[in-house]
Amino acid sequence: MLRLDLHTHSRYSPDSSLDVKEMLTTAVARGIHGISITDHNTLKGSVRALELGRDTSLIVVRGMEVSARDGHILGYGLEEDVPSGLTAGETVDRIVDQGGFAVAAHPYRFWSGLGEDVIRVTPFQALEVLNSRSVASHNQRVERLAQELGLPATGGSDAHRLSDLGRALVLVPEGIESEEEVLLALQKGLGRTAGTSRGSARTARYVAKSVREWVVRGFKRI
Ligand SMILES: [Zn+2]
Ligand SMILES: [Zn+2]
Repeated sequence: MLRLDLHTHSRYSPDSSLDVKEMLTTAVARGIHGISITDHNTLKGSVRALELGRDTSLIVVRGMEVSARDGHILGYGLEEDVPSGLTAGETVDRIVDQGGFAVAAHPYRFWSGLGEDVIRVTPFQALEVLNSRSVASHNQRVERLAQELGLPATGGSDAHRLSDLGRALVLVPEGIESEEEVLLALQKGLGRTAGTSRGSARTARYVAKSVREWVVRGFKRI
């Protein structure tokens, strides 16, 4: 199976300072076959990854993490930025209109997850059932919800630091070579997730970092 990390943040996100080139180099070194740089509300990291990725063996999947009114939504295979602040339904429409793939990110996360009620009434194409910055109980709940709704699974590390790259992955069948083939395989439900959830030591660090950055941003959510 090919190992893809479909949720990562570069310096084009306000809460990450990672260099795109360094992210790609690290991904290759860790035996990752494909990556999506899903910065908050911009495709800039993905555009850069697409340019730099040509010199690597990586499959680069264009993506971004859109701040919808109710929470975070991952859009893949996009040509242009999807605006933030729309409802979940409007955001999914904008993604699908571009021929993209709309995924609910970390649905049970406090503040930035959409929550179950919104997901039940929004036509998502998949749910992110493994996010390495979510605690295990949240990831397990998403998995159950995806099964109940008959939706495909995706996964990613949600890396904001190089050490987190590849902590959670989605595995797709060998032979896949392009973004289009990746998204098609996911749509068909051929993706399997692998990796780890957030443990207690990382939880303490994560909460401290989130609160610190929230204060620095002037008490604004991303
Ligand atoms: Zn998020
Ligand atoms: Zn994220």
